Amino acid sequence: MPVALYNTMSRSVEPLQPLAPPRVTLYTCGPTVWNYAHIGNFRTFLFEDLLRRWLEHSGYDVFHIMNLTDVDDRVIKAAAGAGKRITEHTEPFTQAFFQDRDYLRIKPAHVYTRATQYIPQMIALVQRLMERGVAYKGEDGSVYFALSRFPTYGRLSRLDTRQIKVGARVASDEYAKDDPSDFALWKKADAEDESVGAAWDAPFGRGRPGWHLECSAMALDEIGKRFDVRTLDIHCGGIDLIFPHHEDEIAQSEGATGDPFARCWMHGEFLNVRGTKMSKRFGNFLTARDLREQGVDAAAVRLLFWQSHYRQPIDFNDEALAGATEGVRRLGEFHARLKTSGGDLPELVPTLEAECTAALDDDLDAPRAVAALFEFVRAANRELDRVTGRKGSGALAAFERVAGVLDVLPTPKAVDPDLAGWVAERLAARDRARKSKDFKAADAIRAELKARGVEIEDTPMGTKWRVA
Ligand SMILES: [Zn+2]
Repeated sequence: MPVALYNTMSRSVEPLQPLAPPRVTLYTCGPTVWNYAHIGNFRTFLFEDLLRRWLEHSGYDVFHIMNLTDVDDRVIKAAAGAGKRITEHTEPFTQAFFQDRDYLRIKPAHVYTRATQYIPQMIALVQRLMERGVAYKGEDGSVYFALSRFPTYGRLSRLDTRQIKVGARVASDEYAKDDPSDFALWKKADAEDESVGAAWDAPFGRGRPGWHLECSAMALDEIGKRFDVRTLDIHCGGIDLIFPHHEDEIAQSEGATGDPFARCWMHGEFLNVRGTKMSKRFGNFLTARDLREQGVDAAAVRLLFWQSHYRQPIDFNDEALAGATEGVRRLGEFHARLKTSGGDLPELVPTLEAECTAALDDDLDAPRAVAALFEFVRAANRELDRVTGRKGSGALAAFERVAGVLDVLPTPKAVDPDLAGWVAERLAARDRARKSKDFKAADAIRAELKARGVEIEDTPMGTKWRVA
């Protein structure tokens, strides 16, 4: 069974068919770095992380592109409010995004495209659209996409295109589904744009790109120069991006190239916090750094998210997080047990692997994979209780393979350097005692270490230790 994924374009689960397997080009809409990304944004980025890991585990050679929106309506407004230039305003939030990504164990994309570094490509795309007659300059000096010249507009969101009012225009980056209008590709620079450094010269007038244009230009540039193609294999984002953002990306890209922009469109569902959509107004606005500062293990956040399918909404609340934290603790305990006791468990391992593969191949059914993992833990614990001294490491390797894709094992506790120094000194003393056959002294040191929570294990490579 090949990997099958739900394609928003067809509204059905389809076998993945990349243009040139094993390569898979993956474009994921990234954060707008006007502020800290919230945990709902990270739910989308985590679903994309699971997608990427599962494709790689399945033998695909994924090339992952994520953009950083460092110029758009919100960035300009925020920079102007802070009295800064856009680059000065966005850089700290870009760095914060990378820290949050690392905290949540999200694999870095192969390339992060910053919108401000692709202005020439954006200008070229607008020119091409004007040449092909699907874009025009309005009397307000901005350049618009002409919906009437692109008859397939609205396919992704199943928009009733009869509602489109020919010639109606919208300049803002975000607008409602009942307002499909000619949208701005390039916005004429105003005084505020100039004051924050968000204005560039172009043959059709000084201005700045619209948000939707940015993704089309960056995606086409990256796959064009690297792979000489004009179609992405997979394009992802949150469901709120289907309209207008992705609809507009399709119009711009296909209007310019004549080729399909993406073979598969995938969208992650929303995250609610304590029952309601997260917002600053309800006081339930959570960022990844809030969780990190509260000492939440990233493994628990990942496990909590995997317990719901990416196309189902999640409620993020304290009980759910506590439950996931407990689940992660059990996985960690089991992992430690397998490492010391070993065992091949030939009657359990094939079930675990087959069940997880079937689950993730079926449109990333993470809840089913998680259930299989915990079922394995229960059954294996029973088996290890029953039979002692089992040889082999088959069970450990299989468990680590599955847990590695989900990446849900607990974060090792950070070790205090003073403790580490003391442990090293005590282990050296224990070594000397053992060499002189003073086993009583060696045992006393082991007890001394244990009293401070340090467990040791003698291996052919020397003595290993960890804080229990
Ligand atoms: Zn985008």
